[in-house]
Amino acid sequence: MILVIVDHDRGVLDPTSVQAISGALALDSEVDVLVVGAAGRDVVGELASFGANTVHLAVHDSVTDFTPVASARAALELISRVSPAAVLVTGTPRGNEVLAHIAAILDLPMAAECLEIALGNDGVHQVVRNRWGGNIMETARVHSTLLLAAFAPHAVRAESAVGTGTIAEFTPALSDADLAVRILDRVGEGATGVGLTEARVIVSGGRGVGGPEGFAILEELASLLDAAIGCSRVVTSNGWRPHSEQVGQTGTKVAPDLYIACGISGATQHIAGCRTSKTIIAINTDKDAPIMGYAHYAVIGDLHTILPELVAATRAAKE
Ligand SMILES: Cc1cc2nc3c(=O)[nH]c(=O)nc-3n(C[C@H](O)[C@H](O)[C@H](O)COP(=O)(O)OP(=O)(O)OC[C@H]3O[C@@H](n4cnc5c(N)ncnc54)[C@H](O)[C@@H]3O)c2cc1C
Repeated sequence: MILVIVDHDRGVLDPTSVQAISGALALDSEVDVLVVGAAGRDVVGELASFGANTVHLAVHDSVTDFTPVASARAALELISRVSPAAVLVTGTPRGNEVLAHIAAILDLPMAAECLEIALGNDGVHQVVRNRWGGNIMETARVHSTLLLAAFAPHAVRAESAVGTGTIAEFTPALSDADLAVRILDRVGEGATGVGLTEARVIVSGGRGVGGPEGFAILEELASLLDAAIGCSRVVTSNGWRPHSEQVGQTGTKVAPDLYIACGISGATQHIAGCRTSKTIIAINTDKDAPIMGYAHYAVIGDLHTILPELVAATRAAKE
């Protein structure tokens, strides 16, 4: 049996969670799912339709938002009860963090960024995983009585609903130390109100945008396209935009239908976060910029000229 820990943000399911359930079902017909936090009540019904036997909901009065160690403790309590052969998560920042706590507490290895997983009967498992920001794929053997692995986001396709599992609620035993790291406040939601991971269109800016005020035209285009704003690390390092908008190896990994890269050179660390976009449009003054090797369409020119024209044309097309 495999246990999948899903990632949700105050009751909004991260879309890659269903990918992890589908990935687990491809390995074993017996899959249980864990959701932590009372807000998870909003998603357990939906999750129960994706083929899991039981969706376990861990609810505790002190867990009102993402609480990584408490989530790991809830998982450990469940692991000791249901004895899975593997615990899998979706490789979002929250998913990776919870699994890393489980690995540290159990003193077991954890394999992150997995593209393929093969469970061994003898405690030796094989994984294929991204290394160096996706530039190489590593085949590795993991020696562990309990495989702890995170799927790379979008490595597995989410299958459609296939059944109806049962829902079981429990209250994990938590100590004060388990609650020491928790979210107290949230600031700086995306300006367009569309989150990076769920956005179907992303308008992303790099150093070529020139400064924080240069993002006004990107925001205008984003609001016309119902898109989220993304950016490169240079932009966040310069303090032009918040880190939550950074795309890449050390930012968010995205896979929208359309990624519009404005003034972004296409360093490997940036491409690691957006290479699975269905269509990439690059707007850049340099026809030889590395991003051209990944772009499906390129507009060679100054974004300060091109974007106002694109905004005007998009607005006209919507009227
Ligand atoms: C360990 C590590 C992790 C990293 N993680 C990340 C990450 O997660 N995400 C990330 O993005 N980077 C990451 N980086 C940094 C990365 O290596 C690059 O430095 C960064 O992506 C470059 O950002 P940029 O493309 O905005 O800037 P630049 O490389 O300076 O490119 C700017 C581009 O804008 C173009 N341009 C300039 N003016 C205009 C204009 N007026 N109109 C149109 N085009 C114009 C230029 O031709 C150029 O191609 C990481 C680096 C390291 C070492």
